Amino acid sequence: RSFGFSQVAEGEKQARVDDVFHTVARRYDVMNDLMSFGLHRVWKDAMIAALAPPKRPGWRMLDVAGGTGDIAFRAVEASRGNAHVTVLDINGSMLDVGRERADARGLSDHVDFVEANAEELPFGDAAFDAYSIAFGIRNVPDIPKALREARRVLKPGGRFLCLEFSEVDMPVFDRVYEAWSFNAIPRIGQTVAGDGEPYRYLVESIAKFPRQADFATMIGEAGFKRVTWRNYSGGVAALHSGWKL
Ligand code: SAM
Repeated sequence: RSFGFSQVAEGEKQARVDDVFHTVARRYDVMNDLMSFGLHRVWKDAMIAALAPPKRPGWRMLDVAGGTGDIAFRAVEASRGNAHVTVLDINGSMLDVGRERADARGLSDHVDFVEANAEELPFGDAAFDAYSIAFGIRNVPDIPKALREARRVLKPGGRFLCLEFSEVDMPVFDRVYEAWSFNAIPRIGQTVAGDGEPYRYLVESIAKFPRQADFATMIGEAGFKRVTWRNYSGGVAALHSGWKL
């Protein structure tokens, strides 16, 4: 199914994505709650539980497509203030909201914000103990390139975690979910954010993203080892894991 986005030339996709998140940055967090019935919080908590950031100083994490800081703040809190997290996002508006939230939570010393592209990370090799990306990779035009960059910046023994919408594998529920996403989500976007189009694009990008096993293969092709995944909420979201060994 297409809402026109698939006709957009490869090179223009990033510009479309950027427009979407500039438009929604201020309402991004409330929209997340509305569109997922608050479930994105449960999935993000589960991602951090799987990561289990160590409660010792010196551990560094890179959260790519980190937006308004949801994953970074959780990681710092789970490490009892020991972890240092770099939030990287291509979109300055999302990072502005993230910086304000970090200040409000008193976490500014533990988190820094970098405006850059997941395809070209502005860090040296082997700089981080963990790399996370939540609901971000499907927006990146060249996913294999982003995965290779992820591996490059990880230390040997480093962990890769990717949380993303995925393929629902439950009969009946898959139909309900499809109806919800293609009909209700753009309407909620229209009502709350004043524009349904960005949400139409988001739903379409979910439908086009590779299913769990295919994405696991891509992660392996980037050089990660021991690649696994687990489904959340019947596959509405999936957490993929890999190691740089
Ligand atoms: N990780 C956050 C969360 O889970 O709440 C934000 C997810 S939001 C759906 C997707 C984010 O990906 C946006 O902030 C967007 O700007 C960012 N993004 C899109 N393309 C990117 C790219 N090529 N490099 C880095 N970030 C990108």
